Amino acid sequence: IAVTRTDINSLVEDVLAITRPKIEKSGVVIVKKLAKDIAPVQIDASGIRQILMNGILNALQAMDEGGKLTITTAVDGRELRCTITDTGCGISEEHLKYIFDPFFTTKENGTGMGLSVAWNIAQQHGGRLDIVSSKNNGTSFILVLPYDDTPY
Ligand code: ADP
Ligand code: MG
Repeated sequence: IAVTRTDINSLVEDVLAITRPKIEKSGVVIVKKLAKDIAPVQIDASGIRQILMNGILNALQAMDEGGKLTITTAVDGRELRCTITDTGCGISEEHLKYIFDPFFTTKENGTGMGLSVAWNIAQQHGGRLDIVSSKNNGTSFILVLPYDDTPY
């Protein structure tokens, strides 16, 4: 992977810009809570962008009657977290076990590869993905990356 020092907030803005037309059509309200004090981190920008893109598309697809999509970035000790929360259909406990499996999808035209690929990219960064969901209430998708603000 090609790693460069990248501002995570600018990746969030990139992905929101690309998905803006879809978001507007879906009647979903976006709430951004981006931390102002995040140092750039050593990441593969295109890989992380891909993770965020799939997270946002999954959130939109879960809210077919509108809703709220909240994107947060925050630093907690040596972890950088980017959280995408939706007020959509949620994931059943049964399905939660399989969402990171390649080809697992509940969508008619889904590939089931988004979360599987995202998981691998997060792992390559020494990070992880957490999904917290409750059926009918919504889902939080949390990308956790190692954070080090020591000047180089
Ligand atoms: P795909 O989007 O092609 O189905 P993903 O790997 O991105 O594949 O997601 C796998 C499955 O996880 C989805 O089909 C869906 O059932 C579930 N899922 C992922 N994100 C969400 C979300 N935000 N809300 C509800 N279900 C979700
Ligand atoms: Mg997907």
